[in-house]
Amino acid sequence: MSDLAITFSSEEPKSAYDYRHIYLEQNPANRKKFVFFCPYCGIELIGKCIFKDEGEGVAKSPHFAKKNGEEHDNDCPYNNTNETKINDGRKKSFYEKKGVAFPEKFVDPPENEEKIITVDTVISRNAIKEEIKRNSVNLRNRGKIIPKTRICEDLANTWSNVVFESYGLKKKNDWSEEKRNKWVKNELLKMPLVLFDNFMNEYSNYYYTFKTPKYINFSHYKIYNFDGIVKENNDSFVIYNDKIKSTIDDKEFSFCVIVYKNIITGHYAAKIGELLHESSLNNYNVKCFAIGIPLKEGDRVVLNIEKINRFFIKKKQIKKSGSEIS
Ligand SMILES: [Zn+2]
Repeated sequence: MSDLAITFSSEEPKSAYDYRHIYLEQNPANRKKFVFFCPYCGIELIGKCIFKDEGEGVAKSPHFAKKNGEEHDNDCPYNNTNETKINDGRKKSFYEKKGVAFPEKFVDPPENEEKIITVDTVISRNAIKEEIKRNSVNLRNRGKIIPKTRICEDLANTWSNVVFESYGLKKKNDWSEEKRNKWVKNELLKMPLVLFDNFMNEYSNYYYTFKTPKYINFSHYKIYNFDGIVKENNDSFVIYNDKIKSTIDDKEFSFCVIVYKNIITGHYAAKIGELLHESSLNNYNVKCFAIGIPLKEGDRVVLNIEKINRFFIKKKQIKKSGSEIS
């Protein structure tokens, strides 16, 4: 199992998360699958949980698997016997123990996407493999490549998975709520996460990067997450929760996230736009994740979403007993 692949020899290695986003950005009526190769040794890989359309559900995080009977070259860092090389320097988490790496960096999608090799454009797999092997020396010299993602959804799901896991452990081990919170904090602290390139210090992890709106940061990008409801206006959607207040200089302000409709472009974004519209119509409780730097506007704090990939909502899950789990 590996977390990076390429579709042609000079391509920058991408995570399975990135390829899933590129797949979803294609016209739904005519989506093409890609052909993946190991960026280090050139063997062909199978993309798992990547080629699923919206609404089909993805059981596990996207990743790459070897074909039956094939093994990475002896000197490839993804060769099973070399596993220590891959994990060298990377902090462990329960998420990784399950065999899938989580995204450690968030970036915006490039303005012009490179042409990805699709099943109908690949001419010779052998020729590509040989070319990759020749080029892989440069790649190996670069050291560890950090798994990236370009959509807030992947970060939100990674964070939610840790929270979800904690409730299972609480039940199994009869933990107090305090013990569960401590476990979540410890796990998230071990998981590196950098938003863009501008913030690299001890706070670069899933714990400090995810903030509730109570703790505002006016100078660095953060992911603000909260439970709210959606209001639709002519030109925008506003996600808010009157009960949650931002505290600035000991004063309380209301907080909201604004998504202007003119940024909802592309096939992937259309899905988010639909959910916003549906949530507003039905008064759904939503879990909102928003990447940005908020502004103080009069008596409220506003986070304007600059690009739609920096935003994600999902309907709140309700446990059978009626209590909310995330
Ligand atoms: Zn390999």
